[in-house]
Amino acid sequence: MKKKISIITLVMAMLLAVGGFTTSTSTAVSAKNKKVKCLGTYKITAYCGCRSCSGGWGNRTASGRRAKQGRTISVDRRKIKLGTKVRINGHWYIAQDVGGGVKGKHIDMYFSSHSQVKRFGKKYRKVYVVK
Ligand SMILES: [Zn+2]
Repeated sequence: MKKKISIITLVMAMLLAVGGFTTSTSTAVSAKNKKVKCLGTYKITAYCGCRSCSGGWGNRTASGRRAKQGRTISVDRRKIKLGTKVRINGHWYIAQDVGGGVKGKHIDMYFSSHSQVKRFGKKYRKVYVVK
């Protein structure tokens, strides 16, 4: 009997610890959110390094870096500066490229293959940047 009580106490202590951890985590996230600014809803399209998407550019970007799936996005420089961290769908990307067809509230997302570009199509998503 005595042993049972001590287990319950242990479980309760663990739950309290988890609760405390969750609270501190959510506080950290909300503090992080304060530094983030919503730019509104953008049209998101996809491109790759192929000739029909990028002409002769391949995976070279305007920033001089090699384009990488899950990181590189192409933006209108008047809206988002190159090097800006941009959050789309909870994932952080970096504005590393520009494109003649990317104007205003439009982001072109880099993919490593054209089949993924076709599958992606066109989406409308809220876009966030670090203030
Ligand atoms: Zn392509």
